[in-house]
Amino acid sequence: MIRETKTILKTNILSKYYVTGSMFKPKKVIKALNSVSIELKEGETLGLVGESGCGKSTLAKTIIGLEKKTKGAVFINGRELSSFAPDELSSYIQMIFQDPYNSLNPRKKAWEIVSDPLRVKSNLSQKELKQKATELIERVGLRPELAERYPHMFSGGQRQRLGIARALITKPKIIICDEPVSALDVSVQAQVINLLKDLQKELNLSYLFISHDLSVVKYIADRLAVMYLGKIVEQGPTDKIFNNPLHPYTNALIQSAPDFSSNLELSDIETISGELPSPLNPPDGCHFSNRCPHVSELCHQEYPLFYKTDLRQVACHLVETKKQ
Ligand code: ADP
Ligand code: MG
Repeated sequence: MIRETKTILKTNILSKYYVTGSMFKPKKVIKALNSVSIELKEGETLGLVGESGCGKSTLAKTIIGLEKKTKGAVFINGRELSSFAPDELSSYIQMIFQDPYNSLNPRKKAWEIVSDPLRVKSNLSQKELKQKATELIERVGLRPELAERYPHMFSGGQRQRLGIARALITKPKIIICDEPVSALDVSVQAQVINLLKDLQKELNLSYLFISHDLSVVKYIADRLAVMYLGKIVEQGPTDKIFNNPLHPYTNALIQSAPDFSSNLELSDIETISGELPSPLNPPDGCHFSNRCPHVSELCHQEYPLFYKTDLRQVACHLVETKKQ
């Protein structure tokens, strides 16, 4: 269900370029994020999908200020990112990381890890911090006595629960989940995703949910943004995109996922041919033009504008020509 509610997070033609090279090597520019505009509404989950290296984590890090943007803007609750003081930002937005093994400090007890984001900004006593952290440790489904343990004593799923508790302690309204279940066993993935869903309902959280696994985003996301080589190529409600992908890349991505192609004849399946080009040197025109089964001359010349309908946006010449 799409709720017509307020926009809580927005990026406006946001770009992040990495410049590599040194005194002895030629300078190269990687457009990891290239004019990305997305919107997240209050209480919804926006799924961000795309192949490894397409810029998903760069988007997450640039939104939260871990990477400095090259161009464009980020708005949180209508305010530009740069207007937030660092300790103010943490009570609006938090992030959950992919790797529950390396993202928790091994020398701290569970309750200390969970209370860390609060420690810098509040003048709560150790006892109060411990109490708040322990309440959250219970809320994410762990026994309260585990608060005294160190990360190596937890399983992957339990560690990710601690990561979730840590993200919640500042009472943020937005959580960026960067591949939060990709490192977990399939049986544990569902439990963590269901926990995230329950918390969302209870606390009216908004999620930007990054994943390369389509079955995960299909389950959790209200809307989807599909990314290819630093650009969003298609956005819209999850069910509409799965039922009728408009961009040839989205179509290929869905059809190449084993879960979704099972009811198709083998001959109907358009898998993605060719290698993902390097973001150092994307093809001219549409970046997907060298792999697209429907490519035309125009695609090699011009990057397509977004074709917009009420709920969907697609950057593809094919869609533009069809509708005219
Ligand atoms: P994803 O999360 O979708 O796998 P990333 O955002 O991590 O993709 O990376 C996008 C592109 O930016 C990749 O080509 C990656 O190599 C490059 N990149 C990411 N971080 C850096 C960095 N710190 N310096 C140089 N290039 C980077
Ligand atoms: Mg990533």
